[in-house]
Amino acid sequence: MSDCIFCKIVKGEIPGKKVYEDDELLAFHDIMPVAPVHILIIPKKHIQSLLHAQAEDTAMLGRLMNKARELAKEQGCGESGARFVINAGRDAKQSVDHLHIHILGGRSLRWPPG
Ligand code: 5GP
Ligand code: ZN
Repeated sequence: MSDCIFCKIVKGEIPGKKVYEDDELLAFHDIMPVAPVHILIIPKKHIQSLLHAQAEDTAMLGRLMNKARELAKEQGCGESGARFVINAGRDAKQSVDHLHIHILGGRSLRWPPG
């Protein structure tokens, strides 16, 4: 997707503060963090949202979750906890249409969301 911000970060066309990268996944700091830890992890493949993932994406989705857990632990949230958020679609206020998991932590987070 040529006009997708996260695809541009994948391709290096716009900068991102990367924390992890392999052939399938990329993780980077959110540009407007709402907690001391606020990392986004994405598949490099453009998938609009979790609602658009397919059965063929099953293995990648498993790796995405596992890596999200590892990154949360690396960021010091293993004991204190972290929130893993996936917004999908208009009602959920997804603002970047490329599947991503927010990894949030480093402080006590409020609940419930709006
Ligand atoms: P959503 O609302 O779609 O779940 O979350 C999108 C997230 O992407 C937001 O938290 C927003 O701050 C972040 N974001 C938007 N544009 C950029 C960007 O260019 N670089 C980075 N690192 N994060 C971005
Ligand atoms: Zn994309």
